[in-house]
Amino acid sequence: MALTGLDIFKLLPKTNCKKCGMPTCLAFAMQLAQKRAKLDDCPEASEEARNVLAAAAEPPIRLIKFGSADNQVQAGQETVLFRHEEKFHNTTVMAVSVSDKLSGEELKDRIDSINALKFERVGTKIQVDAMAVINDSGSAETFASAAAAVKDSSDFAIILVSDSPEAVAAAVEKTKDRTPLIVAANKDNAEKMAQIARDNKCPITAKADSIEDLADLTEKVKSLGAEDIVLQIDGLSLRDRLYSLSQIRTLSLKKAFKALGYPTLSFVDAGDTDEQTASAIALICKFSGIVVLDTTEPASVLAMLTTVMNVFSDPQKPVQVEPKLYPIGEPDENAPLLFTTNFSLTYYTVESDVEASRVPSYILVVDTEGTSVLTAYSGDKLNEKTVADAIIKHGLEDTVKHRKLIIPGYVAVMSGKLEEATGWDVMVGPRESSMLPRYLQEVWK
Ligand code: SF4
Repeated sequence: MALTGLDIFKLLPKTNCKKCGMPTCLAFAMQLAQKRAKLDDCPEASEEARNVLAAAAEPPIRLIKFGSADNQVQAGQETVLFRHEEKFHNTTVMAVSVSDKLSGEELKDRIDSINALKFERVGTKIQVDAMAVINDSGSAETFASAAAAVKDSSDFAIILVSDSPEAVAAAVEKTKDRTPLIVAANKDNAEKMAQIARDNKCPITAKADSIEDLADLTEKVKSLGAEDIVLQIDGLSLRDRLYSLSQIRTLSLKKAFKALGYPTLSFVDAGDTDEQTASAIALICKFSGIVVLDTTEPASVLAMLTTVMNVFSDPQKPVQVEPKLYPIGEPDENAPLLFTTNFSLTYYTVESDVEASRVPSYILVVDTEGTSVLTAYSGDKLNEKTVADAIIKHGLEDTVKHRKLIIPGYVAVMSGKLEEATGWDVMVGPRESSMLPRYLQEVWK
């Protein structure tokens, strides 16, 4: 939890020696609280002050990483209950289960179907993050073999799910270069599981039926040397699970309750595909850091990944596309040239309407810091100079033979100044993008 200037002042020597460059210790403490100074600037700070400040700087929910160096996934590190308070730091990790009862072609088909869960949405590639190997067989050897098959057939991060320390040890041996997440330590196997996690530097899930038991178990697992912990509440209805996850999040963030200061993991395997989709989406929204799915139905997984994308977008950063010239179809030097802004929603709406016209065209995307046409114009991020600069920067004078620029109807008012600044003829396009197909077919001849 963040310390106030006064809290920090109490930890300082209070000698006002000025070696930190500040006139007093209090002034230095205030700078530290606002993150405008570093404790290292005070050569007189005690070991105790250093330890307390280091602990206070840690996020209230620990950051957990697993997977290979090239394909690492992260959960935790959250600092707020609601996105509008700041932002969420790590998206929900989406995993899909692979039973170790599958073998041969069935196992290969399952892994292939998970590998194929990749989509593109508003210009961003989205996909699941991990495969969870489930020890349904009860055999350590079969479990290790399935884990090895997953590792060999996919780049995804790996989650090893078994209550048997022997099975987990065998599977970790096959996958430890991928730093798997071990699921799970419980009250009966905690010592052995924590030892495997500690010796192989793997994160581990602590699993219990209640929040109280979970807090006791995380303390135990931590005391055994496994510090990277994920929480799992078992055996509850969806409603009670959501309630527990909200309680855990609130206790860790608002009460700084360290025993619950870890990300959470949930399995979604009950009900039909629609029920699983609804459950997973609820868990993504209410605070599951990792969700393990049973379904590989692309439509369902896309709905979940879309939810992740929307819930975890940074409210301070509009979703943007790269400002550049985009050819639509196969335009030549006589093709129409339109411009719009780099707000993703605006660009993809214009792009799909230009595509629908079947008139090969160029769309010049002007950098307006991810704002829409009217917002950018009223904020002076879209003006004759930004458009003229973009025309030169992206070499449009060499790309098209004509000198005609179609502008959004909403900014018709900038026509005159734009013609003066660019020397191009301005054609005012429709106000609504949906009118573009007709406009291009009828006006551009
Ligand atoms: Fe106080 Fe440390 Fe600054 Fe000296 S160097 S004034 S002790 S904060």
